[in-house]
Amino acid sequence: MSFESLGLSAEIMRAVTEQGYSEPTPIQFQAIPVILQGKDVLAGAQTGTGKTAGFTLPLLELLLKHAQGKGRRPVRALVLTPTRELAAQVGESIETYGRHLPLRSTVIFGGVKINPQIQKLRHGVDVLVATPGRLLDHAQQKTVDLSHVEILVLDEADRMLDMGFIHDIRRVLKLMPRERQNLLFSATYSNKIKQLANDLLNNPELIEVARQNTTAETVDQVIYPVDKKRKRELLSHMIGSKNWRQVLVFTRTKHGANRLAKQLEKDGLTASAIHGNKSQGARTRALAGFKRGDVRVLVATDIAARGLDIDQLPHVVNFELPNVPEDYVHRIGRTGRAGNEGEAASLVCVDEHGLLRDIERLLKREISKKVIPGYEVDPSIKAEPVKSGRGGGKAGRKHPGKRANRGRGRGQTSASKRGSRSRPNRMS
Ligand code: AMP
Repeated sequence: MSFESLGLSAEIMRAVTEQGYSEPTPIQFQAIPVILQGKDVLAGAQTGTGKTAGFTLPLLELLLKHAQGKGRRPVRALVLTPTRELAAQVGESIETYGRHLPLRSTVIFGGVKINPQIQKLRHGVDVLVATPGRLLDHAQQKTVDLSHVEILVLDEADRMLDMGFIHDIRRVLKLMPRERQNLLFSATYSNKIKQLANDLLNNPELIEVARQNTTAETVDQVIYPVDKKRKRELLSHMIGSKNWRQVLVFTRTKHGANRLAKQLEKDGLTASAIHGNKSQGARTRALAGFKRGDVRVLVATDIAARGLDIDQLPHVVNFELPNVPEDYVHRIGRTGRAGNEGEAASLVCVDEHGLLRDIERLLKREISKKVIPGYEVDPSIKAEPVKSGRGGGKAGRKHPGKRANRGRGRGQTSASKRGSRSRPNRMS
């Protein structure tokens, strides 16, 4: 398998070589030729498989074939992502792979000033990466024109649906020409995804690189049984005794993420929290510090962590198991990326046995368990219901996406729905 056989231009190949990639990953090998043929694609691929380059490289190639002159030009390719972080990540990939091409791209998402985005759009961009809410804000202000879009990519479509973006996506679809190429990437295939694929895709080519809901084989998964009250102590012990230098830790709630980061700091570990209540600047700084190695532990909630791409991240810890079993797969997809070995540790207390069963059922296998001497569980402690962190109720496992619709009354106009103040904060 080589990149040379895929039919990409010399300028794109140069950028690929500069990235140090010697051969395409399986998703790239399968998706690139099909996309270059102009076909619609339904791809089942998790983060870490190289899916971003899998759609970005052929997308740039197609645009390059019909590159337009300088000056103002319409958006010809649109990539929709569920989160700001993923949008930024995809935007960086487009910049990287397109650095020798006469194409322009930009990224737009909420939580930051809109005017600089308007300036960039006015200047003209070929490829636009966006989160749905802010994109619709621009559409409403007529600062973006999607009437010339030739290629649409829905990245992490399952996550977009989980976050309640389906209506926004349908609104965006109406702003584009009917004739276009559609690429839908999703880590899981729920019925909702199948429905969206049916509506959106025209005779799509199906590409799947890992069985759905399987976890990367390079990730070593271990459950560490421990009492809830001793989790923080065990985590500090593990980081210290195993000398882990870069650890991504997941908590269920924003409050929990903040509290844990503070406690770890008290234990002498450099730690930052990343979640949706933090400003975009604070999140970017925390992530940059973590990537540089200045911050040893990054504590994150699920949605905030979606889209983080940290090369060769060796350790992911589930401080608490997620309420939605699929999130476990997404979380540990942060490690063992693109063939690097990783380790995913989950600290599990008696309250979480039900959540663990759900995860094992999804994975269709048991995860191995290790007891750390000195941290054995106290059998007299009884299980208590797991709080979801979304108002203190019991974990809302069946409908994880429903909360995104909170506060959206039926009679709202699209203007009030789009108003940045009235829009619920989707980052948790
Ligand atoms: P993604 O699944 O798109 O988030 O990519 C996961 C990681 O794989 C990123 O860090 C990419 O830089 C890296 N990657 C993508 N394609 C290749 C390749 N062909 N060879 C090695 N690494 C790659």
